[in-house]
Amino acid sequence: MADKITVGHVHMSGCTGCLVSLADNYEGLLTILDKYADLVYCLTLADVRHIPKMDVALVEGSVCINDECSMEEILETRENAAIVVALGGCACYGNTTRFCRGGQQNQPQHEGFLPIGDLIKVDVYIPGCAPTPQQIRNVCLMAFLLLKGNDEQKALATAYLTPLMSLAAAGTEACGCDLMTEVINQGLCCGCGSCAAACPVRAVTIQYGKPQVERDLCIKCGACYAQCPRSFFSFEVCGQYEAITNLIGEVMKP
Ligand code: SF4
Ligand code: SF4
Ligand code: SF4
Repeated sequence: MADKITVGHVHMSGCTGCLVSLADNYEGLLTILDKYADLVYCLTLADVRHIPKMDVALVEGSVCINDECSMEEILETRENAAIVVALGGCACYGNTTRFCRGGQQNQPQHEGFLPIGDLIKVDVYIPGCAPTPQQIRNVCLMAFLLLKGNDEQKALATAYLTPLMSLAAAGTEACGCDLMTEVINQGLCCGCGSCAAACPVRAVTIQYGKPQVERDLCIKCGACYAQCPRSFFSFEVCGQYEAITNLIGEVMKP
């Protein structure tokens, strides 16, 4: 197998739930670290204080724009990483951090938080709060195959990553209307209810097995869109599903 790639976890303003989801791959994570990726930066796990050069940066959380260190860190991440991945709803769309404005008695600052795509170019989105362990694992594997695999593996990795790259290119705003036009009206909704569970203002309710969005209530936080497993669905990738699944099974063999 070719050399490993280098991966870092950059922790901005998030709850660490995305990192926990990565860790929830259990022995799968050990396989990745053993064969495919060296973890070169992760404040929770390693005492490395400066963001090094790396192939892939997994950025968790949004950026506090009143905090100079956070602003420097996100720019440095972009400079040092070949591929920047927004890991989770906070990094992609702001998610719950859209509601943080400081102002409480014990936290008098008036802080604002932005999704990372408002400050730097982002290559790949992994939506969800938190994204599933499998999806984070797959993106790491696909990044490895894209950078180090043979031609066939590179093509499958590109197919897998394309919808997630399109999400990143679409921008940092998503709301209940996007959910309706891009998922529900396209017949892609599987009625899982994740959008309703994620909505902080109860603007989404499940009626007759399908979500209904009360537009007047929607505050455009993007949580429903980020959480929906079909918002990054792609018919092009569907045709290659079996080959991609087989490839993942093959490379994850202990
Ligand atoms: S996306 Fe969810 S799990 Fe990840 S940092 Fe934000 S709140 Fe936490
Ligand atoms: S419907 Fe709810 S979760 Fe979706 S963007 Fe609006 S407020 Fe956020
Ligand atoms: S999260 Fe997506 S797939 Fe699930 S019910 Fe909502 S719109 Fe449908």
